[in-house]
Amino acid sequence: MLGLLGGGQLGRMFTMAAQSMGYRVTVLDPANESPSGSIAERHLRADYLDSGALNELASTCAAVTTEFENVPAEALRLLAEHCVVSPAAKSVAIAQNRIFEKNFLAANGFGVAPYAVIQNSLDSANVDGPRNPEVVLPQKQPQLFPGLFPGILKVSRFGYDGKGQKRVNNTAELDYALSGMNGEPCVLEKLLPLESEVSVVVSRGFDNEVATFPVAENQHRNGILDVSIVPARVSPAIVQNARDIAIRVVEKLDYRGVLCVEFFVLADGRLLVNEIAPRPHNSGHYSIDACVTSQFEQQVRVLCGLPLGSTAMHGPAVMVNLLGDLWQRGEPEWEQVLRHPNVKLHLYGKLEARPGRKMGHYTVLSDAAETALQLALEIKQALQREHHHILERNEHRPDEKQDRPSRAV
Ligand code: ADP
Ligand code: MG
Repeated sequence: MLGLLGGGQLGRMFTMAAQSMGYRVTVLDPANESPSGSIAERHLRADYLDSGALNELASTCAAVTTEFENVPAEALRLLAEHCVVSPAAKSVAIAQNRIFEKNFLAANGFGVAPYAVIQNSLDSANVDGPRNPEVVLPQKQPQLFPGLFPGILKVSRFGYDGKGQKRVNNTAELDYALSGMNGEPCVLEKLLPLESEVSVVVSRGFDNEVATFPVAENQHRNGILDVSIVPARVSPAIVQNARDIAIRVVEKLDYRGVLCVEFFVLADGRLLVNEIAPRPHNSGHYSIDACVTSQFEQQVRVLCGLPLGSTAMHGPAVMVNLLGDLWQRGEPEWEQVLRHPNVKLHLYGKLEARPGRKMGHYTVLSDAAETALQLALEIKQALQREHHHILERNEHRPDEKQDRPSRAV
């Protein structure tokens, strides 16, 4: 039995990979219903720090992993006293906190966007001065920020898909934005002109073996990943550099498991590390259909002490995320996706479709990234047209029930 902290779609795809290799999975997730909890052999519905649930996991699972970087690192530390845990608490603690993450990257010589750490504490005990040299207080030392405007204020913990971020142009806007961050520590980062964004999923086993997946080029919309194009349309030198940096990151972290490094590509070809995720990543979903080994199978392999699988690609691929916005009037017409034989549809079984919520994705396979991208965008438009069409129909016939049965029910 393998243990999994977190019930989201990344955990669902991990569970599927584990089950296809003959393992059984126990999920720990507080929610009643979850994408991975609904397919795992067992679902413990409890808090991540619930001692009964952690004891149950530790005594029934040979190894435990996570699909969610915001699990309390303490849960991983406690489990590690009894069973194999990958990734380790210490790595997750760094990746889940933007301040630790940035400081780790900068201290180890990885290029990052210029930034400052802002304590932003409402606690008056902290107002007298920084407790360590990296912590600066904007109210007292605004001169520390020239050069960071226009910038992006990012909350240190629990931000995802662009949430917990605010663009700021000057100290007044910064102070205002800080007041909306509930006293949480933040990072102020310079807004950079990006040529593109790329990411690398890398894995490192307990035997120190490392493997990187092909580099993905990522396009975001409203702070959420929209499309990943693989291989990325960047120079071979950038590809090599991205893979080398990703390997150095896992080695410096002494990481065991699957991790994603997100990069900013600047106009001069320089790569800056944006952030790291201590788990498989949305930009690596293409690997399910396009690679010999998926990022989720790789996670299983590391966790179980098995050799890493080949990350070679069968051919170029483009992945498109399906957000809840498309479900506004019922489930989309999957015919628009499935009528193309080289396109693979993945739905996460979420019962409620909210705008911005990741409900699924599709991957277009082709001989060339450009043709895959073209078809991917055609399908995207067709789904949106269908969506608008339904909205229009409903405006004309408001009484008619348009909701289709959801696949997940
Ligand atoms: P999240 O945790 O929500 O993924 P990120 O820090 O990766 O947060 O930011 C989301 C997206 O916002 C990035 O992928 C990028 O498109 C944009 N972004 C973030 N920081 C910067 C920056 N310093 N300069 C330019 N764009 C940025
Ligand atoms: Mg990101």
